[in-house]
Amino acid sequence: MSASDAVTRKDDLRTGTPFWVRTPHSTVKARPRLDRDRFDVIVVGAGISGALVAEALTRQGRSVLIVDRRPPVRGSTPASTAMIQHEIDVPLTRLRRKIGKAKADAVWRRSVRAVDDLVDLAGRLKLDCRMRRKPTVFLAGDDMAARALRREAEARADIGIRADYLTRSELIDRFGMDRPAAILSQDSASANPAQLAAGLLRAALARDARLVSPVEITDMAELPGGIALATAAGQVLVAEHAVFCTGYEYLPPMKTASQRVVSTWALASRPLAGLLGWLLDTNVWEASDPYLYFRADESGRIIAGGEDEEASDANADPAKLARKARVIAGKLEALTGIRIGKPAYVWSAPFSVTDDGLPVIDRVPGYRRVLSVMGFGGNGITFSTIAAEIVAAEIAGRPDPDAALFRRR
Ligand SMILES: Cc1cc2nc3c(=O)[nH]c(=O)nc-3n(C[C@H](O)[C@H](O)[C@H](O)COP(=O)(O)OP(=O)(O)OC[C@H]3O[C@@H](n4cnc5c(N)ncnc54)[C@H](O)[C@@H]3O)c2cc1C
Repeated sequence: MSASDAVTRKDDLRTGTPFWVRTPHSTVKARPRLDRDRFDVIVVGAGISGALVAEALTRQGRSVLIVDRRPPVRGSTPASTAMIQHEIDVPLTRLRRKIGKAKADAVWRRSVRAVDDLVDLAGRLKLDCRMRRKPTVFLAGDDMAARALRREAEARADIGIRADYLTRSELIDRFGMDRPAAILSQDSASANPAQLAAGLLRAALARDARLVSPVEITDMAELPGGIALATAAGQVLVAEHAVFCTGYEYLPPMKTASQRVVSTWALASRPLAGLLGWLLDTNVWEASDPYLYFRADESGRIIAGGEDEEASDANADPAKLARKARVIAGKLEALTGIRIGKPAYVWSAPFSVTDDGLPVIDRVPGYRRVLSVMGFGGNGITFSTIAAEIVAAEIAGRPDPDAALFRRR
């Protein structure tokens, strides 16, 4: 094993300042060094995926070491706009065409359940993370017109997912937005993603977990009774299992042709007085490419994003960040009439997507004891919740019945 280069990809995960890093309790104090070198499970990555996995594993009574080369919760997680959606980027009707009806229906149902599970978990652990159940309005756009949205709403309703088709006049009456149609769905939520991840890490630490940072994993080797991970500092850590929750800095052997890294932009306004009541309680996104999405927090701050570009490094350009923020604010005003003025926070980031909109949750090729969680796509947090459930079941030796839906493909 070598202790030089990182075993995962490296990226500049954020440009600008996401609002959440300025909120209290958005990170956790980590230990600078280890007092022990053997654990049941080592979780690599202290973002929302690692936090959920560590919480699930310590709930099962396992000893867990969480390591990160950055401070905890300072990767992609604080860049998230944290609309916790059950709606997958690839609509149900299209996913059925891609992977077949039975699998697509199972994936969409599991996504609804995951949002429910995450909201319940945050409630049970009493996490102070502004978790709030919300409906979502999905607007017709250049990618899906009214007729396709009607079919989509019917397909969801047919499998028991709450989704109402809204005509143009219903949309204007209820939400004041003028589009040919929309789907109003229940079963989504929003939260402060950094406080959510930090709260989950704290819950794991209150059980049998350790969190050490900065620790960079540079290599790994399977032993007869475990897995050994080498750190950049030359230490060797041993566990029965390792779970890489390294977000867009994934392990190269997990890469497939269906994944790519794109660029995305986001902003948060100042708290706006007199914000329309419905907006405080609703997530909004649209079937357009590039798309706009937005929601508010409890202080009346609008958090909006979109304008994705295929280039993986476009997010690093500060001049583009200022331009994209103006475009997002302009689109928001054109749709809602709300003028946010100069945004209080603007940021950009790389963002990983897959052709079918699904995450990859699987064993790493060539390793029996190493799992990898890649919660790609616009509802990465929902996928991280599914991943924590699948990983915890796998390690407990009771595989999750839905695990095959999310394997590397
Ligand atoms: C602008 C933006 C908006 C988004 N909006 C939404 C949204 O509205 N809803 C939603 O559900 N999702 C959204 N997402 C997606 C969501 O934020 C991500 O899916 C999620 O944050 C990924 O979390 P993670 O824990 O997997 O990765 P991260 O938070 O990046 O954590 C991974 C950690 O692994 C560490 N690491 C990597 N390699 C190593 C190594 N070799 N050794 C040690 N540590 C290592 C990194 O330092 C990092 O801290 C958005 C993403 C972006 C960028």
